[in-house]
Amino acid sequence: MEKKGNGLGLVFLLIIVLLILGVILSTVDFTKNTYTRGKLEADIANGEVVSVTVNQRQNSSGGSITVEKKNGQEETLFVTDVTDATEFLRKQGLDPYVREVPKDNWFLNHMLPMLVVVGICILFFFLMINAQNAAMNSGPTSKMMNFGKSRAKMIKENKYRLSDVAGLKEEKADLEEIIMFLKDPEDFTKVGARIPKGVLLDGPPGTGKTLLAKAIAGEAGVPFYSISGSDFVEMYVGVGASRVRDLFEEASLHKPCIIFIDEIDAVARRRGTGLGGGHDEKEQTLNQLLVEMDGFTENSGIIVLAATNRVDILDPAILRPGRFDRKIMIGNPDVQGREEILAIHSKNKPLSDDVDLKQIAHTTAGFSGADLENLLNESAILAAKEKRAFIKQQDINASMIKVGIGTEKKSRIVSEKERRITAYHEAGHAILFHVLPNTDPVYTISIIPTGGSAAGYTMPLPENDGMFHTKNEMLEDIMVSLGGRIAEDLIFGDITTGASSDIKKATAVARNMVTRFGMSEKLGAINYDADGDEVFIGRDLAKNRPYSEKVAGEIDEEVKSIISECYEKAEAIIKENMEVLHKTAELLLEKERITGDEFRALFEA
Ligand code: ADP
Ligand code: MG
Ligand code: ZN
Repeated sequence: MEKKGNGLGLVFLLIIVLLILGVILSTVDFTKNTYTRGKLEADIANGEVVSVTVNQRQNSSGGSITVEKKNGQEETLFVTDVTDATEFLRKQGLDPYVREVPKDNWFLNHMLPMLVVVGICILFFFLMINAQNAAMNSGPTSKMMNFGKSRAKMIKENKYRLSDVAGLKEEKADLEEIIMFLKDPEDFTKVGARIPKGVLLDGPPGTGKTLLAKAIAGEAGVPFYSISGSDFVEMYVGVGASRVRDLFEEASLHKPCIIFIDEIDAVARRRGTGLGGGHDEKEQTLNQLLVEMDGFTENSGIIVLAATNRVDILDPAILRPGRFDRKIMIGNPDVQGREEILAIHSKNKPLSDDVDLKQIAHTTAGFSGADLENLLNESAILAAKEKRAFIKQQDINASMIKVGIGTEKKSRIVSEKERRITAYHEAGHAILFHVLPNTDPVYTISIIPTGGSAAGYTMPLPENDGMFHTKNEMLEDIMVSLGGRIAEDLIFGDITTGASSDIKKATAVARNMVTRFGMSEKLGAINYDADGDEVFIGRDLAKNRPYSEKVAGEIDEEVKSIISECYEKAEAIIKENMEVLHKTAELLLEKERITGDEFRALFEA
């Protein structure tokens, strides 16, 4: 708060003082003092008194007398000795009604109402000052008191270290240089190295993104500004943007430091998709964030980390060079990672000797770090309930049901059979990626459930991102897609529903080849694609085909023959590499995630 002593404030102070005075005066009843003993005696003598009530105060000799007079008036006389006064009244031939009254609580009766009034006044006073300040600064550079303040929590030193983050070996290695830079920026500037300004951590919830960000700051020993994307989102236009500005201003005073924006998707949603113009609060906030990030130069000592699990909805502008130009994917942990996470979180939880963390790691494919932590915690609770000082395997089994089931994670407890099928399925894809000449090399193969529908994935490293695709490339694409299904069929003699998206993709490519790219010899170079590239609502309902039923049948025939031709070729390739298929599947079952290099090594052995 800057200076706020001013006229308006004084006026309010005055009002408060007057109010307090009023309250005090109202508690003192001057009229009560006007009735005296002499007057009472006179009234009695004149026969004015109708009845008398003696109010004996609790735990005290004193009290008061209430006198009802003929003319309807009531008078009160305070007395110091009630017994004495009663005696006197009786002597005067009156029959006073004596009752006990609670002790007069001065605080409750007079002080409390006063305090309440004063409290309300003070509150009112501060509200006014606030509003007034906001009004005074309502230019574009306004900082509306606490409203526009960044709300970021600044943590000077935190206890988290990289060793608190289990698994994520490659991810940690990727971040190593950032830590080194924050520790010693000069080493980098000397050789002209450029360190990214922004790093985006992308992965499903509970995988340790927040933890990792804290560990980086802790390891580097620099201040850490942590704020959640939703903290920027306010009802009032401009507040979010002002908070961003304030945050960067504050951070620039404490360089080198880390700004961590958790759940950045709350502010950095793709712009221009909002209804009604789109110049809304979030856009302003995002724009401000981009402006700030462009504003500070590289190597200036501020590094912005952000985490999201919805990278797909982020505005592409945020990923542009000079902003979040480094993206680190953080997936659910593999077997080894899970074992390490379990080890970290069971450090202060005594385990009985029948607990085998390796075994637990094996049965929890698809669990995130947070799930595992939760699993151990639930087990500890169960142990405590039974007044045991250690966790038994039975606690863990029971918690597994609680943690795994009852939520959407039900499907995450994957059976051994499913794992085997998935392993062969992915191995089938991978072999085709490897053998076929026009496909990209394999980068990773994983059978860790992702939480979505996919049981695993085989990810290529895109090499040629050319605009055009040749016919051969497209055919190989289809073959790769079919590889999973082929492997399932070869090994288990049965097929599963797991390949449905593969089949869909293969069919789509084949159909495009025929109808859009004229790659079918039989049908020739004609575009049979009814809708072109335009997308409009209801296109499937009102499909307007510019060709006959006969041609439609021929298209279907062509698509079918492309697919079955590809299937045969792909099957032949996998059959030739049966040994590698088995080895790949075995390795996948063991490690759950293997790198392209590990995979390629299997061909050489
Ligand atoms: P995210 O930000 O990715 O949603 P968090 O970092 O908040 O996940 O993780 C939640 C909790 O799960 C952490 O506090 C930690 O206890 C546990 N956890 C997750 N991943 C790991 C990990 N790799 N190593 C150790 N603990 C982890
Ligand atoms: Mg988080
Ligand atoms: Zn597949």
